Amino acid sequence: MNNVKTVTDAGLCVGCGDCKGCVHITFQRNALGFPAPVVDEGCTHCGECLKKCIYWDDGND
Ligand code: SF4
Ligand code: SF4
Repeated sequence: MNNVKTVTDAGLCVGCGDCKGCVHITFQRNALGFPAPVVDEGCTHCGECLKKCIYWDDGND
């Protein structure tokens, strides 16, 4: 899974919105009431949204 669901599943998303911009991402309130990205089934796992997330460290930089 090469998208921001990796971040939300890990509990690391702070809802900053930096990963907005892909048509496959919508922001919805999570269980705690904070906005969080939800990735739809059309995601191609290109990884662009993950690159925008400063709260995700992929170990490559
Ligand atoms: S950029 Fe990262 S922390 Fe910000 S909303 Fe997207 S997944 Fe959450
Ligand atoms: S298509 Fe790419 S930018 Fe869009 S949600 Fe999937 S991985 Fe992220």
